[in-house]
Amino acid sequence: MLIMPHVHSQYSDGLITDGDLEKALGVPADEIVPIFMDHGMVYEAVRRHLGDFRRHPFIASEIYLRPRGGDRKHSHLSLIAYRPEGVRNLFRLIGNPPTLEELLSSDLSGLLVGSGCMSSPFYGGIREDPERIPLIREEIERTGAVFFVEAFPWDNRQFISAARKHARVLLSSDLHVLDDDFDAYQVMLLMRPDEGRRSSPLHPLKGGKGFAGKMAGARPYLTRLPAAGQLREMNGWLVEFCAFRERQTTSSRHWWSGCAARPPGNPPG
Ligand SMILES: [Zn+2]
Ligand SMILES: [Zn+2]
Repeated sequence: MLIMPHVHSQYSDGLITDGDLEKALGVPADEIVPIFMDHGMVYEAVRRHLGDFRRHPFIASEIYLRPRGGDRKHSHLSLIAYRPEGVRNLFRLIGNPPTLEELLSSDLSGLLVGSGCMSSPFYGGIREDPERIPLIREEIERTGAVFFVEAFPWDNRQFISAARKHARVLLSSDLHVLDDDFDAYQVMLLMRPDEGRRSSPLHPLKGGKGFAGKMAGARPYLTRLPAAGQLREMNGWLVEFCAFRERQTTSSRHWWSGCAARPPGNPPG
């Protein structure tokens, strides 16, 4: 069983739909849990959470960080809620994007915070020198969050093993589109209101032609990651989340009914 964080749907700037990730990785659908992480929103993540609770249990988003000083560009950070207070904190951050400093001095309990994509404040530093991870991890975990490093299909074995000495590592995707939809995707980009993005097409490693092959090529790394153990740990958090909802929820009890009685099973291995 694989968890694959950081997938973009049509609710932000992606075109990933049901079955695409399975296709990209060449694995059966019941062996993979995609975590939808759209920009500044949770629509697809929540839809899947409610629609297919046991297979897509995570409410997540790639949030925006407000630029500081003369910097005009927002940066990105990957957040996954694993406890009820994490959901609350996630919605707060989406509603009022913080600067990096504000983020690091706020309450991030109940959240997993990933090292993020090329537009994250941590990406460059970590790739250049994985020995910077402990410091970043400490800063993030001081807020009550749990830090993890996102390893992308273009990361090599050397980086992944160096990162694993200092933090949890999840193979991530930042997947936006597969080959078949790439032409439609480029048309979609041309319609964007922000001119800068229109003239800079999608990074080839985030989808499109050849992406499925690159993901398949990254599969050997997956076997080196403690994915099964992490899923078991995440399932534990999820059971806690279900139990909380069972106690708290009255009007929407049907969303969760039975989930405490039937907690998600541990994966084989
Ligand atoms: Zn991003
Ligand atoms: Zn992304």
